[in-house]
Amino acid sequence: MSFAANSQAARDIAFQVHPQTNIRLHESQGPLIISKAENAYIYDDEGKRYFDGMAGLWCVSLGYSNAVLQQAAKDQIDQLPYQQLFAHRSNNPAIDLAAKLISKAPVPMSKVIFQCSGSEANDTAVELVWYYWNAMGRRAKKKIIARKRAYHGTGIASGSLTHLPNTHREFDLPLPGFLHTTAPDFYREGRPGETEAQFVKRLAEDLEQLILAEDPNTIGGFFAEPIMATGGVIVPPEGYFPAIQAVLRKYEILCVTDEVICGFGRTGNYWGCTTVGFEPDMLTCAKSLSSAYMPISAVMVSDKIFAAMREQSDKIGVFGHGYTYGGHPVCAAVALAAMEQYDTLGTTANVQDVGPYLQSRLADFADHPLVGNVRGVGLMAGVELVRDKATKQAFDPKVMLPSAFARFALKRGLITRNLGDTMSLSPPLIITRGQVDEIVGIFAASLDDTLAWAKTEGLV
Ligand code: PLP
Repeated sequence: MSFAANSQAARDIAFQVHPQTNIRLHESQGPLIISKAENAYIYDDEGKRYFDGMAGLWCVSLGYSNAVLQQAAKDQIDQLPYQQLFAHRSNNPAIDLAAKLISKAPVPMSKVIFQCSGSEANDTAVELVWYYWNAMGRRAKKKIIARKRAYHGTGIASGSLTHLPNTHREFDLPLPGFLHTTAPDFYREGRPGETEAQFVKRLAEDLEQLILAEDPNTIGGFFAEPIMATGGVIVPPEGYFPAIQAVLRKYEILCVTDEVICGFGRTGNYWGCTTVGFEPDMLTCAKSLSSAYMPISAVMVSDKIFAAMREQSDKIGVFGHGYTYGGHPVCAAVALAAMEQYDTLGTTANVQDVGPYLQSRLADFADHPLVGNVRGVGLMAGVELVRDKATKQAFDPKVMLPSAFARFALKRGLITRNLGDTMSLSPPLIITRGQVDEIVGIFAASLDDTLAWAKTEGLV
């Protein structure tokens, strides 16, 4: 494709690098420029309307036109556009937001530390695992376990927690000391004849073997998304988290729940860890914290971690950590307004109502010739496409069938995302049953488009 000189597309190609994008393909294909939005819909610069089935990157949970959030940003920018939290300074929105987060914590939490992104929140939590064990005098207890196919960000530490090939390849990640255990993906990892309960037991045993092989005195922390999102919407089988948590507790390993996607109601409870029965020592959150209207993230720490931090501060002089924009007043004011909107609008109750409806409508696709597995919880869902339903054989990645599906859906006005072979949906938490019907209708038609295309290409 060629672009008019000085068009926005030509300037985009000339001046920007896009994350998670094939750079050379972008030069020929150009960008999809989104220039306005309302409710769950976004519009490109030619006026075409799309249902944003991913709520941006799983984050615009209140939709794109929440007037309360827009007003909160305007008011705060007029009142106090910036004030840091370094060296005893504070600002009112950050104080109010910290108090609100603590009041909503899934287990008793002591304090909140603010950052600007999910990656920074997870980087901070990794550093706090190390800081904690140093405070305890157990300096060898530093390795961190995450799961295969996890996504926790792309910073140096958060990217080491992540276990997706392109986040590591040629970036010299993961850092030493970051380990990855099996993902609780029963569809792909379960053995023939194995029950879900046996699978859970095997995964807990595998984790224990890993810990013993490494030496429990060297393992400091464990990070997990309650439902693995970017890894392919992996819903753990019943009993998985209690089983692995028993192992982690046995070896005194700190547990961190990454609520960057699952937090704020997406799974039908306020926090994803409540949905799956995981009890954290630390919680990281971002994205829906401000419904993505402003960049803000947070780490909540338990009493025992905060007590250790306080002691370190006595010894060292200060808690020597922080970001210029951590607790930014405009971001905090918008996040506080978002958390209040979740309460006022009853978004978690909406997920409890509309979520099962979405899941049951998608479950009907299980009979489609291209669909191997349908899974999800609340308002996050994945439909895994396969070449052979009986053997679960995937399509050759080279034929890029999932990308074709995403393109067909886009053409029909639905934004979805292919995560490997899994087509995902994560719409705003405010959606109605009528909008679920709209998404599912386009999804069905796009599956048929993909099948017809696969037949012409001789792929099935
Ligand atoms: N954790 C999870 C579970 C995520 O899905 C993401 C991003 O998608 C992150 C952390 C990183 O967040 P950010 O992109 O804001 O750095």
